[in-house]
Amino acid sequence: MSTVASTPAGTISRTPSDEVAAGLPVRTDLWVDGGFRPAVSGRRFDRVAPRDGRVVAAVAEGDVADVDLAVAAARRAFEDGRWCDLHPRERRATLLRLADLVERDADDLARLESLDVGKPVSHAKAVDIRVTLQTLRFYAEAADKSYDAVAPTGPAVHATITREPLGVVGAVVPWNFPLMMAVWKIAPALAVGNSMVVKPAEQSPLTLLRFAELAAEAGLPDGVLNVVPGFGPTAGAALGRHMDVDALTFTGSGQVGRLFLNYAAESNIKEVSLELGGKSPQLVLADAPDTAAVAKAVAVGVFFNQGEVCSAGSRLVVHRSRKDELVEAVVAASQRLRLGDPLDPKTFVGALVEAEHLERVLGHIGAAHEDGARLLTGGGQVLAETGGYYVEPTVFDDVAAGSRLAQQEVFGPVLAVQTFDDLDEGIALANGTDYGLGASVWTKDLSSAHRVSRRLRAGTVWVNCYDESDITVPFGGYGQSGFGGHDKGLAAMDKYTHTKTTWMAL
Ligand code: NAD
Repeated sequence: MSTVASTPAGTISRTPSDEVAAGLPVRTDLWVDGGFRPAVSGRRFDRVAPRDGRVVAAVAEGDVADVDLAVAAARRAFEDGRWCDLHPRERRATLLRLADLVERDADDLARLESLDVGKPVSHAKAVDIRVTLQTLRFYAEAADKSYDAVAPTGPAVHATITREPLGVVGAVVPWNFPLMMAVWKIAPALAVGNSMVVKPAEQSPLTLLRFAELAAEAGLPDGVLNVVPGFGPTAGAALGRHMDVDALTFTGSGQVGRLFLNYAAESNIKEVSLELGGKSPQLVLADAPDTAAVAKAVAVGVFFNQGEVCSAGSRLVVHRSRKDELVEAVVAASQRLRLGDPLDPKTFVGALVEAEHLERVLGHIGAAHEDGARLLTGGGQVLAETGGYYVEPTVFDDVAAGSRLAQQEVFGPVLAVQTFDDLDEGIALANGTDYGLGASVWTKDLSSAHRVSRRLRAGTVWVNCYDESDITVPFGGYGQSGFGGHDKGLAAMDKYTHTKTTWMAL
């Protein structure tokens, strides 16, 4: 039973710690060559549920030796053609069967995701699992509908331009959308015939292990998909430095993204693609539409998934004429978001992923105070008595352009408000970070919408909306938000293929 208490930050629900750890629908060894196996070292690490700080699983801890075994299995699977030489129709059918199995187990997977990372279970089902399904089906359907090309070389020669799988693709992924973001990589890479070794974040290995088991049930041949949980500096680095990994696709922080460029340089110059962080602005012009609607979108745009979203709209850059009414409405909208136990289906803001991250987010809040920003709502940990890691939706006003809160990614529920007087100043503020992942512009004027969208340096610009998303549309960033080929969209298949040209004298 849950009880409900009112706090200054709005409605907070409490579910007493219970026996959720019992009966987890997942096994916790490494998934290598089509089966579960313990780590070579025999070591395991604890998974702590962010909702109450209790251990829910002890997961096998992969390291260099395990990565070697997984890469060798993936290499064998690739070289003997058990997957890449199938008719594309058969790859399509397998991936569609896998999607059906994910759909069958959607409730279990959503609950597992929520338990592992603290996100609301309703969002895990409606976003993470739903998008995982769409992603699998989109790339499955693309598998047997991609054509190669013949170059217009003239009659004496015949030149074809074909796309071929890279071979063994390594993927290192984050914990904020653990299964969904991994499948943004897995689905296109497998659809075109690669084999893979995936390292989930140490905070979120559970759903990917279950997914790998479902892939085997769907008929994916052994060794084609391997999942090696473990820590970044050991298992992650081993994959990044491996001489027999052909490409490495990474989503995570810029700090670690840089390391992957080094790993590639120090090893076999493998292809690297990076999806990194952001400090995305929501730019509200003087003629923005209805304040209540903008306020709700701004609040959801930053506080969805506890703010643990790379494209979170974490800066509100607002014209002075609209500022007071909008900020008041954003604060009210923030306070209405229901914070509490992620397993409660009514929760909107769940728990941060781990104790270290809680401390990091509280550190950013402390820095904002030190730098002179003015706290309007939130600002601290709540529900500490549950043992979980909850931070209230937090809004700071008067955030100076060069201050830490304006520049650094918090990856938590903290909104920075910045004010401008003329449009050039607003655009300069919006563009004034090292990042360039997402940005929005709110205006009723069509010309302003076009002009400003063009001037915003971001991989995705939303006009009068935030976080619209579809698997058909590519997603990636400018600047220090990443490079090397976007996730999502048909073009994502290109980053998992080589281009080959073949000349024939006629
Ligand atoms: P992180 O960079 O700390 O970790 C990501 C992955 O890298 C994990 O699997 C981790 O184990 C691994 N890793 C850590 N240290 C490593 C090392 N030394 N060598 C090799 N691998 C290592 O990021 P995180 O905390 O998991 O995720 C948050 C970050 O990810 C934020 O910056 C966020 O913006 C970004 N992100 C970006 C996108 C996007 O699509 N652009 C999506 C989600 C998250």
